Amino acid sequence: MSLRVSNIRLSLDQPEAILPEKLAAILRVPGDILGPWRILRKSLDARDKDRIGFVYSIEVSLADEEGKLAQWARDRAMPEARVELYLEPPFVMPQPGSRPLSQRPIVVGSGPAGLVAAYFLAERGYRPLLLERGRPVRDRIHDVRAFDAGGPLNPESNYLFGEGGAGTFSDGKLTCRSSGPDVRRVLELFADCKGKPSILYEYRPHLGSNRLPAVVKAIRRKIEALGGEIRFSCRVEDFDLGEPGCVSARRLRGVGTSAGYIPANVVVLAIGHSARDTYEMLRRRGVPMTPKPFQMGIRIEQPQETVNRVQYGAERLETRLGAADYSLISRSASKGASRHDLFTFCMCAGGHVIPSVAGPGFFCTNGMSLSDRDTQFANSGLMITVHPQDFGDADLFAGIRLQEVYERKAFEVGRGDYRCPIQLTADFLSRRASKGQPPPSSYSRRQVVTADISELIPPVILEALHHGLPILNHRWQGRFLRDATLVGPEARGSSPVRIVRDDATRASPEIEGLYPVGEGAGYAGGIVSAAVDGLRTAKAIVAHYAAPGT
Ligand SMILES: Cc1cc2nc3c(=O)[nH]c(=O)nc-3n(C[C@H](O)[C@H](O)[C@H](O)COP(=O)(O)OP(=O)(O)OC[C@H]3O[C@@H](n4cnc5c(N)ncnc54)[C@H](O)[C@@H]3O)c2cc1C
Repeated sequence: MSLRVSNIRLSLDQPEAILPEKLAAILRVPGDILGPWRILRKSLDARDKDRIGFVYSIEVSLADEEGKLAQWARDRAMPEARVELYLEPPFVMPQPGSRPLSQRPIVVGSGPAGLVAAYFLAERGYRPLLLERGRPVRDRIHDVRAFDAGGPLNPESNYLFGEGGAGTFSDGKLTCRSSGPDVRRVLELFADCKGKPSILYEYRPHLGSNRLPAVVKAIRRKIEALGGEIRFSCRVEDFDLGEPGCVSARRLRGVGTSAGYIPANVVVLAIGHSARDTYEMLRRRGVPMTPKPFQMGIRIEQPQETVNRVQYGAERLETRLGAADYSLISRSASKGASRHDLFTFCMCAGGHVIPSVAGPGFFCTNGMSLSDRDTQFANSGLMITVHPQDFGDADLFAGIRLQEVYERKAFEVGRGDYRCPIQLTADFLSRRASKGQPPPSSYSRRQVVTADISELIPPVILEALHHGLPILNHRWQGRFLRDATLVGPEARGSSPVRIVRDDATRASPEIEGLYPVGEGAGYAGGIVSAAVDGLRTAKAIVAHYAAPGT
């Protein structure tokens, strides 16, 4: 047992080296009796622009913790601080189960969900085989750079497909709504694999797209060192479920891939939300799936300087704190004017707008930033949650079709060359197309093209934007939309489909041995949440099956 001391404030001029002194003052003990301490949480408090500072939560060990807690409660030396007994719940991996596995487990997709599932299976001696349709990260970087510079789209190696999945060229924000031992264990893995130690305690940890490839490669090397294997350019194209039409035989026996047949009894399906061909295959094979709500919208790009001034006030704190970010919501679902809340999504401070494209003939935006967050632009998704009743029909893939309609229009508007449609916000709100010379943008060398963004989004999103944008702008005293441009569409905020799984076993209820995970399965969104989903499924497999060959 140790103590957790929370709400310790340091001004921007105070170094972290004085934290032990602060702890000693709060606990009213001499500094030299403090045992080991570590930061559990560090967040920036910028609510009061005259008192911007960091707030810490710290774990500290010392003799007689309960006595010191009672003394603190009596004295309240620094009343704003809070002290409590602290015992961090341990991370536990289950003991291997008894059901024999004749083949090693296959993991399909090397995004955060698949990579982390494979790592924890490898760590327990299950020697997983990881199949990835795209190329290794080093080649993938080359393919993405060539595309950005105006080259052709490689449908198997791009911003979404290839080693590390969508996570590799993501912004690398490692925030997660949940917490606990599994989240901590995933962050520890990332930190060990060329991440940075501060991701374990920062409130909004960020790595940046330039650091993620090294993290992904380091995890792959660990998997290989533990007896796992990864095969690139290997796309799963079919499932072998036994005799066709024989319901009792719906047990996985293997997968058909672009590189041949591989026998398998256990398959972790971690395909992300953009493998539309694989979803089609799953439907053909009768894998249970349902439509689900997903996020769709556009992206706004603003001068980073504007965001810095709004968040930090007049002082030029960005040189010390880095580019400022934001997270905003305009609630209107209950007010009737629009049925949908408009919210910012995946905000990238000092970042780039990118062509987040995996399929030829479709255009979709997203955003990312490098670890320094040092461009002059801020960008953020402006999204709503689209529900199946908004899809226009009841088909399982109606959400995907909705994405495709607008992504195809955007591709055509972008002259069939993945130019990014862009519009001045004033023109968008006045419902007139922007004309003339396009405004500056961080978009890649593929260039931008002026357009009428309202034609590139469904009416339900248009309505939410017209209602919500003036509200967000008012909240920022007219600065949210100042010199801002809109780009889009951003159609793939999450998956429009869920691959059904059983809550307890985490396996498909109808296909024995199939374990859908991550964003593409509809159970997670974001790097850490997808990775934790992968970890939990690895635990479920370990608990059920014995490692192959044991
Ligand atoms: C530009 C961008 C920025 C983002 N920024 C952030 C951020 O800052 N923070 C955050 O938390 N989240 C961010 N996200 C979201 C995050 O990247 C995803 O939520 C996460 O990567 C989902 O992980 P996943 O493993 O489920 O799927 P994915 O990462 O999509 O991985 C799926 C993998 O499966 C492979 N695959 C698909 N089909 C097959 C097949 N048939 N056979 C073999 N392999 C296949 C794909 O090639 C891919 O590598 C961002 C996403 C994008 C696109």
